[in-house]
Amino acid sequence: MKEKIHDLIIIGGGPAGLSAGIYASRARLNVILFEKGMPGGQMLFTEVIENFPGFSKPIGGIGLVDEMVKQAKEAGLKIENDNILKVSHVHHQKHRFKIECDSKKIYKTLSLIISTGARWKELGVPGESNLKGKGVSYCATCDGPLFKEREIVVVGGGDKALEEALYLTKFVKSIKLIHRRDQFRAIKELQEKILANDKITPVYNSVITEMSGKKLVEFVKVKNVKTGKIDTITCNGVFVLIGIEPNSELLKEVVDMDDKGFIIVDSHARTSQDGIYACGDVIKKDLYQIATAVGEGATAAFNAQRYIDEIS
Ligand code: NAP
Repeated sequence: MKEKIHDLIIIGGGPAGLSAGIYASRARLNVILFEKGMPGGQMLFTEVIENFPGFSKPIGGIGLVDEMVKQAKEAGLKIENDNILKVSHVHHQKHRFKIECDSKKIYKTLSLIISTGARWKELGVPGESNLKGKGVSYCATCDGPLFKEREIVVVGGGDKALEEALYLTKFVKSIKLIHRRDQFRAIKELQEKILANDKITPVYNSVITEMSGKKLVEFVKVKNVKTGKIDTITCNGVFVLIGIEPNSELLKEVVDMDDKGFIIVDSHARTSQDGIYACGDVIKKDLYQIATAVGEGATAAFNAQRYIDEIS
């Protein structure tokens, strides 16, 4: 029996992967997208998306995922629910990759698109790991409603921290927004909303050094990085929103990455390995947005198609 070789396998079903899937399916490539959880990536945990073109009224993250998945399936994309454990070259076959899945299935493909996204960073301070799920959270959309009328702290100064702090004001009594510098990194529009909100008090030049509580979070220790003074802030919850780390471990020995593990690509979405493309939050780039991810996904699919034409 002739061995089945796919044209393209896409790993990761966030906006970058789904966009790549739509383009590849419309190009009539023999393609499968693998997603280990639900398609949608970080969009699933985003309450409102206000800056994705085409939606003048803000759309919920889940609503946008549903639309993308529907469009991808209508374009003919096959989405498999499986975790990829290993990506390697097929021995003695130059233009072939082997994909090994959790389900023990093995697939072969001529090309790959890596769109595995990123995960939230942790602070790494004492008490954090013990109190995860007991007041320490990395997702306001998921856990916000659990903190009705509570006093919480939010850590971070980027878009995510400010956006989620604003969302959390719907539930909580008060927020101390702890940031390690004297100004936020987030876009000005968010900064203005934060400063105008009575429930939020910014705490600048400060870092959390410890989280503590017997069963649930009870307080955090906060150090002023300018003066060295340490204060105790009593709180019921800590939201750590300090940026992202790439989900790129799978490709460690396969493609080039920067020192943080973000995959390096050129303007054609090509990695250092012929036949492997990457897009979305897993790559090294300037701007981590849904709008940029979908463009990169389209570019990756377009160039994967060109590559397949060349080698076939
Ligand atoms: P980010 O932009 O990288 O910001 C991370 C923030 O956390 C920075 O303020 C940083 O401080 C702080 N930080 C990092 N490590 C820390 C540590 N160990 N201790 C204390 N503070 C620490 O990350 P993000 O806000 O999660 O956003 C990730 C990407 O998604 C960004 O590109 C962002 O633009 C995008 N995003 C966009 C939207 C939107 O457009 N609506 C919403 C959410 C996210 P410094 O400022 O001192 O570095």
